Amino acid sequence: MWNLLKINEFCRDEMQMREYLIKMGILNNNKICKNCKSDMELKKIADCWYWRCRKVRVINFCKVHYNAKQSIRKDTFFSNSNLPIQKILQFLYMLVKNYEQIQIINEIQLNKNTISQWMDFVRKVVEEWAISSSEQIGGIGQVVEIW
Ligand SMILES: [Zn+2]
Repeated sequence: MWNLLKINEFCRDEMQMREYLIKMGILNNNKICKNCKSDMELKKIADCWYWRCRKVRVINFCKVHYNAKQSIRKDTFFSNSNLPIQKILQFLYMLVKNYEQIQIINEIQLNKNTISQWMDFVRKVVEEWAISSSEQIGGIGQVVEIW
């Protein structure tokens, strides 16, 4: 059973959290470099994780450093936010558990604006999911409630 404390403890180990999110299909397990088509390496730079490729190519007798770098959040559920992933997971937990907005503000220090932006985003994601999988969960004459 998950609770806020457990989420906190779990997220303290970044590699464990990352592996879990990969297993859940939320984060990518690898990334191919657009420039040289090889696997990018995972690197932590100033508290953020990046996919990075520093391969050197020789073009017209000149060495070219591509130095491609992109956040591991790019093209994922987390791409539109700068919040720590740990905080986002806590927020999602509280949302699913029907916490009041004031509790979310107090427990994880998110402001009202951020909370409503995240609620809109989550609602949109769930709606899109519900539409794309409506054949499985809905069907004629069935009502699927989304908040
Ligand atoms: Zn590359």
